[in-house]
Amino acid sequence: MNQPFRVLTSESTSEPEPNQLSRPVVHAKQLNVIYPAADQPVHALSDIDLLIRQGEFVSLIGPSGCGKTTLLRVIADLEPITSGDVLVNDMTPSEARQARAYGYVFQAATLLMWRTVLENVMLPLTIQRKPTQEAHRIAKEQLAKVGLSGFEDKYPWQLSGGMQQRVSIARALGIEPKILMMDEPFGALDEITRNNLNQQLQDLWREQQRTVVFVTHSISEAVYLSTKIVVMSPRPGRIVKIIDSPLPRERTADLRDSEAFIQLAQQVRDALSEGHHEH
Ligand code: ADP
Ligand code: MG
Repeated sequence: MNQPFRVLTSESTSEPEPNQLSRPVVHAKQLNVIYPAADQPVHALSDIDLLIRQGEFVSLIGPSGCGKTTLLRVIADLEPITSGDVLVNDMTPSEARQARAYGYVFQAATLLMWRTVLENVMLPLTIQRKPTQEAHRIAKEQLAKVGLSGFEDKYPWQLSGGMQQRVSIARALGIEPKILMMDEPFGALDEITRNNLNQQLQDLWREQQRTVVFVTHSISEAVYLSTKIVVMSPRPGRIVKIIDSPLPRERTADLRDSEAFIQLAQQVRDALSEGHHEH
């Protein structure tokens, strides 16, 4: 369980991290999650130490079953921890949830098919008891930001998968979350659509200064989007390496072909295989 390899290095070389002085938004210390089971308990997360600051875009990457979703769920107060400590905005996850600190976007768009696009985005706002007119205004605004003006009165089943995911993102952003959590939101999409949505998400993140915790299987997606990449090992999920991105905050399409991008991708790939070989 306690292997000697839990390396917590920062790989950033020249530039100082832009948010070195920003407020901590998520702080996990020696966090463990063990799922109880009649036959054998599952040790899903092992001694996780992680600090996420305001305005960072953090990707969790690692093989299936390494605890990425569990970590998001812990932060979102959807999963209790077994030991250790986790603070969200200096509160317990439960207090943070009550303060409505976050939005959550799942792998498959979880839209209500019998409600229009606008109604879907309005729903969490209505649950927050925002007056209808205000909810309506915010929902329209958020849909415009993800490029879906004109689609307000459509039903989700009338949209493509990529458009449905944009509705999910608009819905999550409408409540102005302090943290946006995204669990493989683009995993089911083709590469062209995924790259487009990566670009849109990047723009939104930079404009709105949100903190994003993003789960992905894709090395290039992680490298393209993140200020920090957290590489995890197979079960029990541990952090193999935390890589601070040396890339500029603004990402453009041509960045994918740059030397810095390719090197960073290689570094992530190496850390992933290091995590595998420890087993
Ligand atoms: P990932 O998102 O990285 O694929 P998960 O966080 O979903 O991984 O799961 C981590 C491990 O915990 C897996 O082995 C999974 O089978 C197990 N697991 C997840 N949820 C539960 C649960 N509710 N009860 C028991 N085991 C679970
Ligand atoms: Mg998962």
